[in-house]
Amino acid sequence: MLYSASRLDTYRQCPQKFKFTYIDGITTDSEGIEAFMGSRVHETLETLYTDLKFCKTVTLESLLDFYHRSFRKAWHDEVKIVREDLTPDNYEALGEKCIVDYYNRYAPFDQGRTLGIEHRIELNLDAEGKYRLIGFIDRISQPKDKVVWIHDYKAKSFLPSQQDLDEDRQLAYYQMAIKQLWPDVEEVELVWHYLMFDQEIHSRRSAEALETLREETIALIREIESATTFPSKKSGLCNWCEHQAICPQFKHLFETQNLPKNEYEGETGVQLGERLVYLQAEEEKIKKELKKVKEALTDYTKKKGVETVFTKDHKILVKFYNNIKFPGRKDPGRQKLEEAVRAAGLWDEVSSLDVFALAKRIEKNGWDGERIEAIKKFGTPDQTPWIKAFPKNQGRGGR
Ligand code: SF4
Repeated sequence: MLYSASRLDTYRQCPQKFKFTYIDGITTDSEGIEAFMGSRVHETLETLYTDLKFCKTVTLESLLDFYHRSFRKAWHDEVKIVREDLTPDNYEALGEKCIVDYYNRYAPFDQGRTLGIEHRIELNLDAEGKYRLIGFIDRISQPKDKVVWIHDYKAKSFLPSQQDLDEDRQLAYYQMAIKQLWPDVEEVELVWHYLMFDQEIHSRRSAEALETLREETIALIREIESATTFPSKKSGLCNWCEHQAICPQFKHLFETQNLPKNEYEGETGVQLGERLVYLQAEEEKIKKELKKVKEALTDYTKKKGVETVFTKDHKILVKFYNNIKFPGRKDPGRQKLEEAVRAAGLWDEVSSLDVFALAKRIEKNGWDGERIEAIKKFGTPDQTPWIKAFPKNQGRGGR
């Protein structure tokens, strides 16, 4: 499989989405309006720099004319608007504003020589070319000899922090590709144009940072290629995911939401779900009630000077144990307590292995492969269901 920065990001964000899209090859015509509008703005800026390359003067008016024509020509019924208060016209106007601001900021576009527009790159992450990435750089420019700027246009509605961009992987991959393409280049600058904010943000990467990224990326590709499961990972991005109807997180909703009322109410999942919600609420009530009754019984026995209370068929024992309460795992003072127990040579006697924490750590690949394998052979694969009802719109991923 060919990899790219966005494919790898998809895997990081949701392995299930990665599988649907890149392994099963399930594609749809559906796209979010933000991505649709962003593509039209990209096309417009590509046209601008292509014309400039041929010494053609481009007026703002002709550029906007191109943008609006391409917006309308490319429009299709599968463009999805998540925000119900906005219309296609709002987004078209937003794209226009991005272009106007860009034009006014950079005209007459003499900040550097353009070396590439929508430039396809191939990056070998290892000497044998086993791990490769491909990508397209929006624009490459040369402000001065032996210096290259990698430009990326973003028509997104949020402005990331400098730290976020200093950790961005996509343009760092492009920097590695540029160094492979033109080894004589001495300086590479990564430049983002956040068009909605009329902002230009720069970042640089050291050779060490690139080497770390190269190693991490090879490890990630190996993980993908050896993966046997691709779990779904709900996040805010689910609202824009074109696979909701087949995703295990939302499939049941899509299958049931348009059923006639009687079929809907008789559907097994709906019935079991309703029952669970009812019982969960009852359980909560009972727990609270139980706590109150135990407190009242404690008071009663203390007042009466009794240790056993009799009912018709039962007897209730109320006992008090003398105990010492030590700080819990997260309480202040816990670390000092552990140090004291260790110093007294009592640690082995009173501590025990937390197998839950051990399993979690292994699941998250928290240790190197050798140590994990040495421990893993003592366990057996298991799946424990975790079931809890929440209000429909609570949590990430909506719906
Ligand atoms: S809807 Fe969300 S959880 Fe499901 S595949 Fe898409 S991104 Fe992943």
